[in-house]
Amino acid sequence: MSRIVLLGATGSIGRQAVEVIDANPELDLVAAASGSQPIDGLARLTQVGGDLSELLERARPDVVLNAVVGFAGLPATLWALERGVTLALANKESLVAAGELALAAQERGAGLLLPVDSEHSALYQCLEGRSADQVDSLVLTASGGPFRGRTREELLDVTPEQALEHPTWSMGRKITVDSATLANKGLELIEAHFLFGVPYERVEVVVHPSSLVHGLVRFRDGAALAHVGYPDMRVPISFALTYPRRAATPVPGLDFSSGMVLEFETPDLETFPLLRLAREAGERGGTYPCVFNAANEVAVDAFLDGRLSFLGIAAAVEEALAAADGEPVSNLEELREVDAAARREAERVSA
Ligand code: NAD
Ligand code: MG
Repeated sequence: MSRIVLLGATGSIGRQAVEVIDANPELDLVAAASGSQPIDGLARLTQVGGDLSELLERARPDVVLNAVVGFAGLPATLWALERGVTLALANKESLVAAGELALAAQERGAGLLLPVDSEHSALYQCLEGRSADQVDSLVLTASGGPFRGRTREELLDVTPEQALEHPTWSMGRKITVDSATLANKGLELIEAHFLFGVPYERVEVVVHPSSLVHGLVRFRDGAALAHVGYPDMRVPISFALTYPRRAATPVPGLDFSSGMVLEFETPDLETFPLLRLAREAGERGGTYPCVFNAANEVAVDAFLDGRLSFLGIAAAVEEALAAADGEPVSNLEELREVDAAARREAERVSA
């Protein structure tokens, strides 16, 4: 039996994780937490909001599935990594904001960090058992979101409702907007850099509208390995929760009889500047990724509240990055200050 703690249990990932856990007798949900919705009876230990460290201590987990949304997930990420408890990580924002701190914690804890993000789960699987010198580059696929193919002009007055209509994935509101702006792929670029230790110039992003190819690894001999399957988060959730056993899931294999075309195109960085800004923030390093993430969280909230335009999201992030010094930090308290300052700046420019 594997003792699982599920954080963010009421969300899109959280609910699919409960389904995976319920269907697998080897997985025991000992504790669950949500941000604000009630979850009584979901697990033996439950908590709504607040500091999760006591819950984590009491639960003695084998695996922590962190499916909290946003920077709020960071303490749990560090808690698991520091102790060498296997971390199944959906909460990409924590790794983006605190990449260096998280990797240092992982080195001390010497535990497993298993990505739940579908692209990174795919890359993890393609990379397994290969040495770094064989790897040429990583390719992250992006659906392109609901506004693929549009010009900036055509995005001037898109509404939250339109941004929330994702063509291939059904997800929480924040990540769905991030997918429409391509900020999600920007976060994933930084996530891939920290997870796999590959420099940014060797992480490529390609638009692939049908979301069947989740990621590719190019090798030095000219071969590339791709991970393919229907877009269904239960697959990477189950992969991480049952690693390395790869338990069965109810997700069907690809059906070739239905006809299948795999299309790829390069992303339009002019219309979707957040992907470019994320790459720049990642390359500049230090706390620029933290600033990118914080400003984006604030700007997405403002957009969903109707206080900021769709194109205003990228503008707010760009201004917050310009106002920051990007100086590296050495602990969580200092990082919290950087995060808070970036939020204030983004609030100011979104107002
Ligand atoms: P969601 O908004 O549907 O759910 C978020 C969950 O986090 C909820 O249970 C909420 O109660 C909880 N939460 C929020 N603030 C909290 C706090 N302070 N403390 C404890 N819990 C808190 O989001 P989601 O779509 O499930 O995404 C969760 C994470 O997984 C995000 O980081 C997202 O980027 C990532 N992710 C999601 C998908 C997907 O398909 N939904 C795919 C890849 C990665
Ligand atoms: Mg993803």
